[in-house]
Amino acid sequence: MKFGVGASQLKQLTPEDAVSLASKMGFDFFQWMPIVKGEKGWAKPGQYDYDLERITALGREAKRLNVPLLSMHLPYLPSHEVKDGFINDTVAAAKAAGARFIIVHPLAYGNYREFFRKFYEMCRAVNLELLLENPSAREKDIGVKIPTVSSPLQFLGLVKESGAAVCYDCNHAIRTGLDPVDFYAMVAKFTKVLHISDAGGESNARHAPIGDGGIDFTRLFNLIRASKFNGHIVIELENSQYQELQKHLDILKDEFSGKLALQNMMQTN
Ligand SMILES: [Zn+2]
Repeated sequence: MKFGVGASQLKQLTPEDAVSLASKMGFDFFQWMPIVKGEKGWAKPGQYDYDLERITALGREAKRLNVPLLSMHLPYLPSHEVKDGFINDTVAAAKAAGARFIIVHPLAYGNYREFFRKFYEMCRAVNLELLLENPSAREKDIGVKIPTVSSPLQFLGLVKESGAAVCYDCNHAIRTGLDPVDFYAMVAKFTKVLHISDAGGESNARHAPIGDGGIDFTRLFNLIRASKFNGHIVIELENSQYQELQKHLDILKDEFSGKLALQNMMQTN
């Protein structure tokens, strides 16, 4: 099992500083995302800074620090903002970064089935793997009035039709009102990356530390072990404090090396 942290958890930092911090904390990889020119946060497709020189340098530095830019994460696609040439540019950026996965949240807009099939083929041609992430369905979360692919059956159908594999996010699952453990059971055999954070519950949290929301992590982690998952886990805490990221990394490393650290953590909370 490998553990990563994403650019969206270290938004306060430049990508260069975020990679350096992830390395110091002991993460195994970094989930990179394209940024808006001159800014640090999540971007819309038309605004990406695909500065290949900077991306190549970042990818090299990340590798040197043992936190390779394994996955490149994009927001909700496709939408009316996705123009011709976008996939080409995205694939070129992912290659420059030295990535293995491109992770996308699918929207059910226009000819989206064709879009993801084409995207998958273009990734495959250059040895990249396209992963579809189960999206959060709430309009206010994603800021667009386009239906997402949130029901497990619809999502699973798109995965099979496109050829892509799955990035499973338990936070998104519970925020669509689904049981995150049952949803994972449906997609487990297609899953290559897991996004872990707590959500829902009484506080109606999102991307919160484990224990602050309503996800039954004991059940979820038992199923992850039972499914023999041995891929990549990204800890996705929003606006997290660095201590919280470090604590989660240490707990999850112990948890999946047989020490069942989660139970101890829940007892001390
Ligand atoms: Zn996610």
